[in-house]
Amino acid sequence: MAEEGLWKTLEALLRRYGITEKIREQLIVVEWASEAPPIAQSAKPLYVKEGVLHLGVHSHTLAQELHLQKAKLIRDLRERGYAIDDIKFQVIPPEPASFPARLEIEITSEDRLWAHKALEGQDLPPRLRERMVSLLATARARERAMLLGGARRCRGCGAAFFGEGDLCPVCHVWEVEGAQEESFQ
Ligand SMILES: [Zn+2]
Repeated sequence: MAEEGLWKTLEALLRRYGITEKIREQLIVVEWASEAPPIAQSAKPLYVKEGVLHLGVHSHTLAQELHLQKAKLIRDLRERGYAIDDIKFQVIPPEPASFPARLEIEITSEDRLWAHKALEGQDLPPRLRERMVSLLATARARERAMLLGGARRCRGCGAAFFGEGDLCPVCHVWEVEGAQEESFQ
């Protein structure tokens, strides 16, 4: 049944972003921890849509500060090979107190095998395939760790998340999208 939930999540991802090429677009989201420009390290990557990276920040002040640095941030990301044309900042609620300080994420050979199978038949350059296998295997291991750590499943997309309510941060932003974005345009 954990397996079933996971497939549901992957399906939701595919549905949400389209085909494999669209998952590729999301690489910056999962590689953010190591690839974020230093000034934006504290922002939380939400998703990429049509070349626009949506970043969640915990205060209006930080949103405004980063907004002023937007051109530099985009340049930095493009230099690192990410096809980002624009960045939008959204104020998101702080992490709830229940958020575990540290998740023990253990990626097993089974996770990698599963990820390889999920990408079977997709025509991908070897290095990109390797990164996507890591992405999917990590997502699977992470979701397992999160559910063990008390996370709940989002009613919108089926992904595991920590927090209040029944929508994950991404679906939450999608529901309120518009109103908050405008204040930083
Ligand atoms: Zn969701």
